[in-house]
Amino acid sequence: MTAPMQTLLDQIAAKARPLAAEGKPAQYIPALARVDPTKFGMALITAEGEEFTVGDADEPFSIQSISKLFSLALAMEWVKEELWDRVDREPSGMRFNSLIQLETEHGKPRNPFINAGAIVVADALYHRRPNIEWGFRNQMRLLARDEAVTYDLEVHRSEIATGDLNRAIAFVLKAYGNLREDPLDVTRAYFKFCSMAMSARQLARAAMFLVAPQENDAAPAHGQSAPRLHALMRTCGLYDQSGEFAFQVGLPGKSGVGGGILAVDPGKYAVVAWSPPLDRYGNSIAATAALELLVQGGGA
Ligand code: GLU
Repeated sequence: MTAPMQTLLDQIAAKARPLAAEGKPAQYIPALARVDPTKFGMALITAEGEEFTVGDADEPFSIQSISKLFSLALAMEWVKEELWDRVDREPSGMRFNSLIQLETEHGKPRNPFINAGAIVVADALYHRRPNIEWGFRNQMRLLARDEAVTYDLEVHRSEIATGDLNRAIAFVLKAYGNLREDPLDVTRAYFKFCSMAMSARQLARAAMFLVAPQENDAAPAHGQSAPRLHALMRTCGLYDQSGEFAFQVGLPGKSGVGGGILAVDPGKYAVVAWSPPLDRYGNSIAATAALELLVQGGGA
């Protein structure tokens, strides 16, 4: 990277932020459709623990599918290899909430980052601990080292009210014998994970186990799963735009329809960019651009 980090982030924000005008926040979850589309924040934390931020980096946003990374980390720790009998590890090439693929593939989701896969992960966690919503929240607080981290209940209610497609996915999973618990209970837990609200800074802190082994690590076994999580992030982390993101940015990443994208450069840093307007795949336009600029050292 050419410029000092803070200057670089300031330049990136100036270039990337205006691009948000080309998209719209997620419309299918009413509470997300109401988010201010001009928000933009970015936080980068180095392996040495230095923190750099720009814009609205301390404003909590709905992490949505970025939660799938953390629920998977927990399931890999608790359920271990058995999890992979229930979910594959291939890019889907289809929309993240596709029902068609799940049906044609007999109820085995392509990967743990599409909704069907994350619902299987939620089922595995819920099966082990019916009060998993609180266990998950506590885990995020420990990883972020911040007791203020919590759920956005308005987003949660909004998803329950409009989440028929996800409930349909859960029932298809159940029909194929790939869900142990009640589909309505499992989807409620899944929606809860998605409704976690965190700032870019909190989320980058929570991702540090993917960058380097942590001192006093809140979740020691998460660190052991890091290489596999990187692999899944690289191949499946940005919906059916994962190949393009790998080509342009080249870092393991995970996006969410709240407009956040988390990426890590293993051994070097974790970075989170947030801007609510999305492209047609469901990825944030300005956050994607910001990460492209970051790896190019700020662009020309
Ligand atoms: N809660 C969202 C859904 O299930 C998550 C989507 C996402 O961020 O990919 O539709």
